[in-house]
Amino acid sequence: MTGVQTCALPISELRTLLDNREVSAQDVLRDVQDRIDAVEEQVKAYVTVTRDEALAMAKKADETLAVQKGSLLTGLPIAVKDNMCTKGVRTTCSSKMLANFIPPYESTVTKKLLDQGYVLTGKTNLDEFAMGSSTENSGFHTSRNPWNLQCVPGGSSGGSAAAVAANECIAALGSDTGGSIRQPAALCGVVGLKPTYGLVSRYGLVAFASSLDQIGPITKNVTDAALLLNMIAGHDPLDSTSVPVDVPDYAPYLGKEIKGLKIGIPKEYFIDGMHPDIDQSVRAAIKQLESLGAIPVEVSLPHTCYAVATYYILATSEASSNLGRYDGVRYGHRAKGKDLIDMYMQTRSEGFGPEVKRRIMLGTYALSAGYYDAYYKKGQQVRTLIKQDFEKAFEQCDVIATPTSPSPAFSIGEKATDPLQMYLSDIFTISVNLAGVPAISLPCGFTSDNLPIGLQIIGKSFDEATVLQTAYAFEQSTSWHTRRASL
Ligand code: GLN
Repeated sequence: MTGVQTCALPISELRTLLDNREVSAQDVLRDVQDRIDAVEEQVKAYVTVTRDEALAMAKKADETLAVQKGSLLTGLPIAVKDNMCTKGVRTTCSSKMLANFIPPYESTVTKKLLDQGYVLTGKTNLDEFAMGSSTENSGFHTSRNPWNLQCVPGGSSGGSAAAVAANECIAALGSDTGGSIRQPAALCGVVGLKPTYGLVSRYGLVAFASSLDQIGPITKNVTDAALLLNMIAGHDPLDSTSVPVDVPDYAPYLGKEIKGLKIGIPKEYFIDGMHPDIDQSVRAAIKQLESLGAIPVEVSLPHTCYAVATYYILATSEASSNLGRYDGVRYGHRAKGKDLIDMYMQTRSEGFGPEVKRRIMLGTYALSAGYYDAYYKKGQQVRTLIKQDFEKAFEQCDVIATPTSPSPAFSIGEKATDPLQMYLSDIFTISVNLAGVPAISLPCGFTSDNLPIGLQIIGKSFDEATVLQTAYAFEQSTSWHTRRASL
C-alpha cells in the first residue's frame, strides 16, 4: 500500500490493514523507524531504540500473518516505558544506577504483549525511577514536547507520551504513581489511562511507591486505550496486589450513549491560579458532555487540599524502602569504596540523581522513630479520608470530570529548580492514586499557544468501562483527537 503514513494510524485501523495484508508488519515498522530517524534527535523520547529486536519481531509477526489473522497486537510497534523489565533488553529507569541493567526476566505486561506478537520499538525515557513531572529528572536527557520542542512533555512517562504524539510508535505503556500517565498524555495531546489499583499486574515494574504504582496505556485515541487495557489487565499470581476480578471486554462500551449518566464536577478542582484556557476548555467539555445527555452534578472532594502533602509523605516513604535494594551488591551500579559501608555510600551517591536522593531523605525521615506517628501514620489516615471523599461523591454520580493538569506544557527549566512548584503540577491527578480509582486523560482543547489541554474522567473502582464509555462519547463528538503535532 502506498501513500499512507502507517506510523500515524491507531491500533484499530492498522489491525485491519495488517489482517487484510494491505501492509506487512515490516512495512509498518519501517514507517515507524523512518519516523524515529527523522524526529528522534529533536524529541528524544527513547532511552533505547530496539532496532534489531524490532525487526526480528516484525518478521516473526509477518510469518504468523502469512498463515492466519493476527491477535490484536500482532505486528504492532509499541514502546515501553523504561521501568518495565524486558528480558535481555536494557531497562534503566533513566537512572545511572541501572544504566547497564539487563533484566533476566520479563514483566507480566510485556509478556502479555509478547504473547500477542507485538513489536517492541524501544524503551522510553522517564524521570529517574518515575519521580517527576517533566522528564527533566532523567539521568540521561530531557525529552521534548512534540507540540513545542522548547517545552517538557510532562512526566514521568514523558518519553512514552512524546513517542505516541510524534508517531514514533503506534501506542505505548506508561506507569502512574501520582499522575505519570495522565499528565504527560494531557501535555502531549494524547490519551492516557491509569487503571484501578490491582487491575494490571505490577510484576516486573520497577517499584517506586508500591501502594500507588499502576501500569496503563498511552495511545492516539480512546479506542486504542480500551484495546490495550484489555490486553494487559487481569489477575496475576506473581503480583500479590493484583485483584482476581473478571475483566470485561471494554469494546462494547465504546459507542454506548451517555444519556442520563451523572457527571460529578468537584468544586475543589476549579481553582484560582489554574491556566485560564484550561478552565475554559474543561468547562466547555462538560457542556459538551451535557449536550450528549449527561447530567452534571456538583460534588465535593473536601480533603483534596491535603492530597499533595499526603502523597509526598507516603510515596517518598515507600520509595525510601523500595530503593534500599540499590546497594551495589544486588543490582546495577557499584562503586569501589574502601570498605563495605563506604562502597554502599559511594554507590548510592554516584548512582542516584538529586530528586531521587531528596525523596529517599524525605521518606526515611517520615518513617524514622519519633516521626512515624506524626507523618507516615497521619498520611495513611488522611489517605483514608481522601478515599472516602470519592466513595461519597460516587454515591451521587457515575464519573467525575476535572482538568488533568493545572497548567499546559511548561518550558524546559521553568520549574526544574523549584521542587514545590513541580509537585503542585500533580494536584489534580494524585488523589486518584491515593484512592486507587481509575482515570483517563483525553484531549479537550488547546491553549492560545497551541498547546494541548487534557480532560480527566475519573471512575469508580474497577469501572473502567464507564470511564471509557464517557471518554469515547466525548472524543467522537469533538475533533480534538484528530489534531497532530506538526513536527
Ligand atoms: N509527578 C509525580 C511524582 O513526581 C508522579 C510521578 C508518577 O506518577 N510516577 O511523584
